[in-house]
Amino acid sequence: MKKEVIESLKQIVGEDWVIDDLSKMQNYLYDETEPLLRPEASRDSIVVKPGSSEEISQILKYANKTLIPVTVRGGGTGVVGGAIPVKPGMVLSLERLNKIVELDEKNLMITVEAGVTLADLLEVLENESKLFFPIHPGDEGAQIGGMVATNAGGTKAVKHGIMRNHVKAVEVVLPTGEIVNFGGKLIKNNMGYDLLHMMIGNEGTLGIITKATLKLYAKNKYNGTLLVSFNTRREACDAVPKILQEGITPLAVEYMDRVIADKAAEQLGSTWPAQKGAVDLIFMLDEPTEDELYSNSEKIVEICEKYNAVDSIIAETAKEQRNILEIRSNAYGPYKDNISDALDIAVPPSAVPDFFDDITELGEKYNNHIVSLGHIADGNIHNFIMGENGKLPSYYEKLKEDMYKTAIKYGGTITAEHGTGKTRKKHMALQFTQKEIEVMEGIKKTFDPNGILNPGTIID
Ligand SMILES: Cc1cc2nc3c(=O)[nH]c(=O)nc-3n(C[C@H](O)[C@H](O)[C@H](O)COP(=O)(O)OP(=O)(O)OC[C@H]3O[C@@H](n4cnc5c(N)ncnc54)[C@H](O)[C@@H]3O)c2cc1C
Repeated sequence: MKKEVIESLKQIVGEDWVIDDLSKMQNYLYDETEPLLRPEASRDSIVVKPGSSEEISQILKYANKTLIPVTVRGGGTGVVGGAIPVKPGMVLSLERLNKIVELDEKNLMITVEAGVTLADLLEVLENESKLFFPIHPGDEGAQIGGMVATNAGGTKAVKHGIMRNHVKAVEVVLPTGEIVNFGGKLIKNNMGYDLLHMMIGNEGTLGIITKATLKLYAKNKYNGTLLVSFNTRREACDAVPKILQEGITPLAVEYMDRVIADKAAEQLGSTWPAQKGAVDLIFMLDEPTEDELYSNSEKIVEICEKYNAVDSIIAETAKEQRNILEIRSNAYGPYKDNISDALDIAVPPSAVPDFFDDITELGEKYNNHIVSLGHIADGNIHNFIMGENGKLPSYYEKLKEDMYKTAIKYGGTITAEHGTGKTRKKHMALQFTQKEIEVMEGIKKTFDPNGILNPGTIID
């Protein structure tokens, strides 16, 4: 990086908050994208750690004038290469914007700086409030700004929706350096175009989120976890809409192939509690009374039995619940070293059984042992395409494209919750028409006329 750039940035944020030595910035050059797919970071990078929105504004004015690419970095837990700087330029890390601005219990909202991690937020709520925040994308190192920027989903979307449903306001620094505010502490707000929701899911391509106001909720007191096993995927899938139609809304309904559960348990030195069947549904419930918790659990079991469930286990103690959830969280663990791609497809929930059949056929056609788990009530399935001896198989691109086309055939999407990033961008034209892509390009141009923000992500 040119000396004058380094000096200019040091003048804005101070000497201590600029890293220009490649050997000291390695942690800022990758995210959690599968290693076989991870885009390569530019070696001509510089890491800048601003301490305020005003400093970010000055940095962006400078970058926009000198046309230096800026890649925003949150917790680096993203899985589509969004935070990786692929062009020579700066990584703008938000780690110093880590203050809780206001816990507003009367409005059931909290305002935080973007660099507050999910772990920090959960701790503050646990210690200082009876309220809770429902979105949990699986890695508590994620920052709130990153979760807003990726419109994170996670397991609890069945009951609580996704990030978009809980963000009420954001402060944003535009690529041209102006600080703007979208939204407010409002339940209803229809004035003008909805630019708040334009910022949610922008993946660091339209603006830098520096503060966010989030909606909070009253906690239900009684939690339970229920494990129900089936012989076939179709039977498991068909039971889920019936449960929702009965008015039972679990916190989460997770699907997992048994082969994943057994391997994940073994890696943790534990045992998966279910023995019968080949696939499992995990229901997480939270209810205001103990009676509702038990009666809803019983109703779920009854419905599942009508769909030929072969076993059901209620995890009664906190230890039993923890065991199931820890194994579920480790689903990726045993496959990590030989996975090509953990896809993030979603289809309308009713199409999941047919989608699964098609994926099984594709796995057989390409001789790839695709395993699956997912947020089944959301129609969001993570299919793991396996690697071959630690490499992408020769047919990887073709198989992936066939899987994407299968999703689209059912009215689905290539990515449900992980984002387009740099690794899914190539397939935009499978899901959108040329005109639809042009509208997106126009939006990008309006916010970022010189294309300095996160080049290579979503839209070039
Ligand atoms: C084990 C594991 C499980 C996961 N499970 C789920 C899951 O179930 N559901 C789910 O939705 N996701 C899941 N994720 C991925 C998810 O995208 C991230 O966890 C999180 O939402 C990204 O936040 P981050 O702060 O780490 O962002 P980063 O990875 O740092 O960045 C992600 C993108 O957002 C941009 N960005 C970051 N901060 C800002 C900001 N302040 N302003 C503007 N742009 C910004 C970046 O430029 C990048 O494009 C999982 C990840 C892991 C590692």
